[in-house]
Amino acid sequence: MTMPRRRRDDLARRLVETNHNARIRCWVFQCPEPPGNASGRGLGRFCRKHLEHYRRHGDPLKESYNATKANPYRRAAATWLRRNAQDRFVQAALKRIEGLMIGAGQAIAPRNLRGVAAKDKARSVWARLRNREVAAKDILAAILGVAMCHAADTQRGRVEYLRVQIAKVLSRMAGGEVKRWPTHHTDPTLPKETVLRWFPASEGLVLRDLGKAAELAAEFIIHERMEALLVTADQQRIRKASRTIRSLANSAKPRSNP
Ligand SMILES: [Zn+2]
Repeated sequence: MTMPRRRRDDLARRLVETNHNARIRCWVFQCPEPPGNASGRGLGRFCRKHLEHYRRHGDPLKESYNATKANPYRRAAATWLRRNAQDRFVQAALKRIEGLMIGAGQAIAPRNLRGVAAKDKARSVWARLRNREVAAKDILAAILGVAMCHAADTQRGRVEYLRVQIAKVLSRMAGGEVKRWPTHHTDPTLPKETVLRWFPASEGLVLRDLGKAAELAAEFIIHERMEALLVTADQQRIRKASRTIRSLANSAKPRSNP
């Protein structure tokens, strides 16, 4: 879907216009750059760098949670879900996630996503998860893993940050598209195949739409069961630490037979 002409013209005008009532500096504390709407080189309250970061990560400064940080929580969430499969909030969340996948219609190939409206891009992620036969419980574990990361974060971002973080994980699970075909080169120095890869850009409105639907699907667990989830994560961490200590102690012991 393309942008209606009036909106496009309005946007084009605002992009080059200098707003004299705008703040002189970007909204990020101590950032010396002017915001887009005061510089005539963009839109909004943030400078170009911070706006870009905000689009990608859901916060102008906070980095995304990496796998090292999120994976232990995700594993703990999966364990907790196995033990609490009968919990009514778990059953409701799984139903909602299945509903999102079933109702998503046809998936749009990642190479055809350019110019597609954000809500259709978000819908297409659910459709791709369904087509790849990703289990609803794995999707729920991923959502909860990020929510746990966020709940345990001493400098947690706003709900938008949480939603963007959830959406980034789901987009990765939905995957991209890779096409390869043989080139039939006889010269061994030339590549044997041509490979094209399309991965949906992990930024912008689509992450907000997708993350909101995912967070709402799991909201009762996030609000009512977070303590139990974090206890499970702590127990797993303690068990892992004691295993490490035991193996260190064993390797430090003198061998009985030389
Ligand atoms: Zn800035």
